[in-house]
Amino acid sequence: RGAVPRRPMGIGQELTRGLLAAIGHRGPPPGVRGKSERVIASRQGPHLRLADGGAGIINFCANNYLGLSSHPEVIRAAVEALEKFGAGLSSVRFICGTQSIHKDLEEKIARFHQREDAILYASCFDANAGIFEALLTPEDAVLSDELNHASIIDGIRLCKANKYRYKHMDMQDLEAKLKEAQKHRLRLVATDGAFSMDGDIAPLREICQLAQKYDALVFIDECHATGFLGPNGRGTDELLGVMDKVTIINSTLGKALGGAAGGYTTGPKPLIDLLRQRSRPYLFSNSLPPAVVGCASKALDLLMESNAIAQSMAAKTQRFRSKMTAAGFTISGKDHPICPVMLGDARLASVMAEDMLNRGIYVIGFSYPVVPKGKARIRVQISAVHSDEDIDRCVEAFTQVGRKHGALP
Ligand code: PLP
Repeated sequence: RGAVPRRPMGIGQELTRGLLAAIGHRGPPPGVRGKSERVIASRQGPHLRLADGGAGIINFCANNYLGLSSHPEVIRAAVEALEKFGAGLSSVRFICGTQSIHKDLEEKIARFHQREDAILYASCFDANAGIFEALLTPEDAVLSDELNHASIIDGIRLCKANKYRYKHMDMQDLEAKLKEAQKHRLRLVATDGAFSMDGDIAPLREICQLAQKYDALVFIDECHATGFLGPNGRGTDELLGVMDKVTIINSTLGKALGGAAGGYTTGPKPLIDLLRQRSRPYLFSNSLPPAVVGCASKALDLLMESNAIAQSMAAKTQRFRSKMTAAGFTISGKDHPICPVMLGDARLASVMAEDMLNRGIYVIGFSYPVVPKGKARIRVQISAVHSDEDIDRCVEAFTQVGRKHGALP
């Protein structure tokens, strides 16, 4: 065993306890499960095997919207890229970390979104962390929906622009803030295309009209839209007919597009050139591993060949939403595969999710502080690879569990 200690040493335990007490960390309230990680012993997919023995679990809580995470062609493309281009680059892009596959994937992403150019990041969190600071100065303004994803909030924190937060999807408030922001040199409106906690879709048509009226650029985060919203899965801008009005798109390769990892910005070439020179998560972090590039590249090929997968997901979403509504549940959002089953009470969401798992259905309850107090829910996410039978079994289990715990009469 050499010099490796057999047991971890309790270094810093006292200090850590003191630190947790000082920041007021007390864990979740009684009866509510804290965030725990369930260990999966199989591939990501509609049916899972859990490490603690649960088999044949139907999975309704991954962002695997198109079921490409374990698609045989996606896996084969990853293996081929791994063999041909190696495990990784041991370098950032601008030093020794750009391979032909990175350039090909950037070109493909830009083509998919019908934009001029694209730049890859290790994650969309990084893409969001890197864009605002690189683009905006203290003379500029950024206007952000109050429910934007944490990574947009953090990215905005890092920049020195003047910050305006408008009420969630409230166009009157956005207009008021845009008027106020006229005094600045440049304005950027930033919004999630689809909001992951509520499954609602930003009113991009109205946002773009206001942006035009008040001379602002529009930025959207398409993590929960790329690959499946809109007739060809291009995203919220395609769905709402404003592909020519949204200037900047950030999105992820870690959800519908194969689910491995990675993120990107796509938009006008001069802007992407600027990010390559200035965006810190791009400049100071390792290149995407070839296998990850291979997955995303194949996922985009599949989507550009046919919109059948995206269409099948839409039909399944419709089946789940209408059956759950008929059963008496309130499902937030509209036409989105994120289907939050609204329950209100945090404890109810927690015990119902637990009981669903006992019936072989894997769903997750969300409560404060992830969602507002009194708006606890179980979030169900539909995938193109769920069968109609999977969906019906989920609705049936919800109905039984809902009756048992008093969520349904
Ligand atoms: N933006 C949104 C809206 C997200 O939901 C997520 C992931 O949860 C991210 C950004 C971060 O994406 P990634 O996992 O690629 O870092």
